[in-house]
Amino acid sequence: MDRETQAEAIREATAAMADRMAAEKSTLTELDSAIGDADHGANMNRGFQAALERLEDADDAPAELVKTVGVALVSEVGGAAGPLYGGSLMKASGELEDGITAESSVAFAERYLETLEERGKASVGDKTMVDAVTPAVHTYRKAIEVDDRDPLEALGKAVDAAERGVAFTTPIRARKGRASYLGWRSVGHQDPGATSTYYLLEELLAVAEEYLNGDVEVDAEADVDPEELEEPALEDGADGGP
Ligand code: ADP
Ligand code: MG
Repeated sequence: MDRETQAEAIREATAAMADRMAAEKSTLTELDSAIGDADHGANMNRGFQAALERLEDADDAPAELVKTVGVALVSEVGGAAGPLYGGSLMKASGELEDGITAESSVAFAERYLETLEERGKASVGDKTMVDAVTPAVHTYRKAIEVDDRDPLEALGKAVDAAERGVAFTTPIRARKGRASYLGWRSVGHQDPGATSTYYLLEELLAVAEEYLNGDVEVDAEADVDPEELEEPALEDGADGGP
């Protein structure tokens, strides 16, 4: 998939994520009202609307676009989630300088998790977004590097892993973030940040499906003339990436 198509996919994924955050605003707010301060839905919705606006003026380079989304989230989401989501995206975007390939997407995912853990100082079992991101990233990497799956199949497995990660947050006690102030009273509630992470990954998968439609090898250097591509679908047999 050529750079132009990658850029288009990133823009489309951001738009899908923004729509999803708008649609789930009240769900995320309800989750955050149980163990937080009831602002996660509004925060994420505001952040993704801002990201969409900023993308309008951004250059069509994959790394630049993802970084722009990160900057918007840092500036507009606020709270704990803004710097964690945004900062991790900004840092991880550096892995996409040479475009999106199966390899660079794994590096991106790993750098995202690494930055998230570094900044939030949370690990698996603390009842945060880390509980959704960690299994997703590990599953994605293993599917590609060990099981030799194509990126789309790997992403599908990663989304399933994130969903299980979200379920895992419910019975455990929060040890990081605002919910940790509740101590044992946080038990029995699903974490809002893990939930929004899962929703965003679902949207990423939906857009990746559209662009990769099946069993295609991802290669940023693919010799495809952008002029020959119909948008947004790729020609049969064209290489693609998430
Ligand atoms: P705030 O808690 O400041 O109101 P949000 O409501 O937008 O911010 O986001 C809350 C979410 O942020 C939590 O559900 C949790 O997933 C995530 N979170 C909070 N603290 C941390 C942390 N230290 N590391 C990772 N994620 C965190
Ligand atoms: Mg909150």
